[in-house]
Amino acid sequence: MTFDPTFLSNFTLVLTGFSGAFIAALWVALVVWTYRDIKSRARDRLVHILAAALVALLSLPGVLVYLILRPQRTLEDEYQKTLEEEALLQAIEDQAVCPGCERRIKDNWLVCPNCQTKLKKPCHQCGKLMDLPWNICPYCGAPVQGMRKENVTMEEALQGPPLKQETGQQKKKKRRERSGEPAHED
Ligand SMILES: [Zn+2]
Ligand SMILES: [Zn+2]
Repeated sequence: MTFDPTFLSNFTLVLTGFSGAFIAALWVALVVWTYRDIKSRARDRLVHILAAALVALLSLPGVLVYLILRPQRTLEDEYQKTLEEEALLQAIEDQAVCPGCERRIKDNWLVCPNCQTKLKKPCHQCGKLMDLPWNICPYCGAPVQGMRKENVTMEEALQGPPLKQETGQQKKKKRRERSGEPAHED
């Protein structure tokens, strides 16, 4: 059997060609993977470019450095975490608090057991609990008894218009005094 030196040189040429192509493809793939990975972890474009450049320059050791330095959580994880925190905060804020002593109260309490502040009032018709400022029951539509009298008393109803008339007369008087007309004309 004869040894052909050209075959060996051709074989090594092909082998180095393949391995070179493989290494080049692997290099590009590492850069692409790093770029995708950093995009899911950071918003800053400069950081994206720096991470891709690090792997493009150093290849596998660059990936090692990148894996050590990359942010722990992805943006998706961060988003989920903030959502969870907001939900927790909302749950705490949603718990009703007594306006008198600021202790936690339950929705169906009429009076605060701690400071005895009135919290709710029952509807006289259907018995369901209503907030104190409500003048009408939202469940059955019944108006709160005596609310109209409490809101606008007879005194208030009588006091309103005369006060306005008084000020109107005073204005007229002042106008007449300024223009020099005699005040006893009307
Ligand atoms: Zn209280
Ligand atoms: Zn009602």
